Amino acid sequence: MKILIVEDEPKTGDYLRQGLVEAGYVVDLARDGLDGLHLAQSGEYDLVVLDVMLPGLDGWGVLRTVRRGGHEMPVLFLTARDQVEDRVRGLELGADDYLVKPFAFSELLARVRTLLRRGVRAKEPEVLRAADLELDLLRRRVMRAGARIDLTAKEFALLELLLRRQGEVLPRSLIASQVWDMNFDSDTNVIEVAVRRLRAKVDDPFDPKLIRTVRGMGYVLEADPRA
Ligand code: CA
Repeated sequence: MKILIVEDEPKTGDYLRQGLVEAGYVVDLARDGLDGLHLAQSGEYDLVVLDVMLPGLDGWGVLRTVRRGGHEMPVLFLTARDQVEDRVRGLELGADDYLVKPFAFSELLARVRTLLRRGVRAKEPEVLRAADLELDLLRRRVMRAGARIDLTAKEFALLELLLRRQGEVLPRSLIASQVWDMNFDSDTNVIEVAVRRLRAKVDDPFDPKLIRTVRGMGYVLEADPRA
């Protein structure tokens, strides 16, 4: 799941990004309103965490434009001002929830999970499956043949991507941008290492093998390798 944070205060932005990445989400951070608006309109995000006081264009302006553009992803706005009018205004403009700064990260994470759960119910299954492998998006849990498998945040994000696009050969560059949110040099083996670790957990002890290397191209997850 992909989250956009729009926050100009460097410490807060970095702290939120790090926390959400550690919680297993893919995160982009915009540091002003116009960048935030541009990214939010791409339609790539499952949720936006939006600060109100921003340079360029304030959070109200971002929210209004995003909603007018027909984007319906949940928006959690952050306000430093504990004013009833602000909260009412945000909710009227189409925000789904708000938090007053300063807040505990655990509280933000709880709100984020609740909002994502609502969004997921509306538009997609909560569990991704291939053969006897199951990835539960809401509980952040992976099972194979009925046994729980512990994955790191990156392994989880990698498996989620492979499952969402099963049957499709995913180039390393796409995996790098979607899971690590960056571009890797072609000679890096970060992805190979991650895939090997993921396989050791979800494939090696089981049959059939689901993740396949397509030489010179990338990786594919398929339930039926003959297909
Ligand atoms: Ca701010």
